[in-house]
Amino acid sequence: MKFGGTSVADPDAIDRLIGIVRQQIRSNPKASRAPVVVVSALAGVTDALVAIAQLAEEGEADRAAAALQALVDRHIAVATAVTTDSRERLVAEVRREFDELIGLVHALAVLREVSPRSRDAVLAAGELVSSRIVAAAFADRSIPSAWIDARAVLITDAEHTAAVPDMPETCARAAARIAPLAAAGKVVVLGGFIGATANGMTSTLGRGGSDYSAAIFGACLDADEIQIWTDVDGMLTADPRIVPQPRLVPQLSFAEASELAYFGAKVLHPSTILPAVAKNIPVRILNSRRPENGGTRITSDGAPAAGQLTAIACKRDVTVIDITSTRMLMAHGFLRRLFEVFERFKTAVDVVTTSEVSVSVTVDDTRRLEAILDNLHNFAEASCEREMAIICAVGENLRADPTLFGRAVTALDRIPLRLVSQAASRRNITFVLRDADVPHAMTRLHEQFFQRS
Ligand code: ASP
Ligand code: MG
Repeated sequence: MKFGGTSVADPDAIDRLIGIVRQQIRSNPKASRAPVVVVSALAGVTDALVAIAQLAEEGEADRAAAALQALVDRHIAVATAVTTDSRERLVAEVRREFDELIGLVHALAVLREVSPRSRDAVLAAGELVSSRIVAAAFADRSIPSAWIDARAVLITDAEHTAAVPDMPETCARAAARIAPLAAAGKVVVLGGFIGATANGMTSTLGRGGSDYSAAIFGACLDADEIQIWTDVDGMLTADPRIVPQPRLVPQLSFAEASELAYFGAKVLHPSTILPAVAKNIPVRILNSRRPENGGTRITSDGAPAAGQLTAIACKRDVTVIDITSTRMLMAHGFLRRLFEVFERFKTAVDVVTTSEVSVSVTVDDTRRLEAILDNLHNFAEASCEREMAIICAVGENLRADPTLFGRAVTALDRIPLRLVSQAASRRNITFVLRDADVPHAMTRLHEQFFQRS
């Protein structure tokens, strides 16, 4: 059970967390082990630590110290509010953790230098204290629990700020240190996001890395399910800022989640749950303010509702580049030349459609657009059109049900479509159209697939 920053933001949130874990234990009286809890730093704390590292780098020792003091005060207040019996010990632990950090930040400010390794040591403090607070809060409510320093379990390479886990070593340690406690009925609490290198230097998995930690621990422990508790109900059938009343997607496949994430429908980053998906462990996204909702389950195969798409998403403000060349007719090697231009200017291409004499692509990074067009002009005609958008309809059902494609196109029959593509995976249909048409098109598609009774 992983709880994000907003789910541990303050004493009320921590109370809710404890209620959710307690409920989980009660509803599973025959479970052979207790849940393992992974927590993020309190909401906003990692950002504050990033700012503190920045101040240290600028030599602003006093401002860094003042910002740190505010963090100390906030954590002591939360620690005090969520405990009674274990209060004194917890407050002392929190102080000790911060005293170390204060010393470190002062040294960095004197040197005016923050290496990736030092930055990890600063950022890790957020999860180290949040996990201690949550573990103490469990104990205080007589829920058997144990705090484990995640750095003793999650072993990574030395790529500081974006470390890569050593799965065999981490799994061996999880089996030795976490599994026996969980089997004895103790709720093990660990900080997400943090780990250590083989020689014991603190490392982090990169921003937002707590989901990744949860997937790693869950995979190592062969969890029945990995729950990501956050502040939204799950994945929605469309962006609520564009479509009125989207629905919750109850279940989807990992591949569908990946397609949707690219289009910004991002509740979690799918790549962070790969260790779980690789072991066929379902990942469920749940709202810690509405635990009774079923949330969204991501599994390796999904379980699509018959006759339906899974969700629709869009990416706005993209540019279409049309490339036409009569030399392309019957020639080979043309596409290679064309894509080399994008590669040279380090610009990612998203949608691609081709005919015998022309190729159209979309890009969303237009910083090098002029240079790209200049280079394309060496061997083709090329023009671009801005203020376009991509709409992507995703669904495993597209493979089996050929009528879905027709229904999607029919829903958009009044809207000029610039490009249409369906990839070999046949898990999505992609439309490129004018950005101004997005609200109308999304609403039409959503009505077609999700609002019919
Ligand atoms: N606290 C870390 C961050 O904000 C990790 C996480 O929350 O997932 O990036
Ligand atoms: Mg976070």
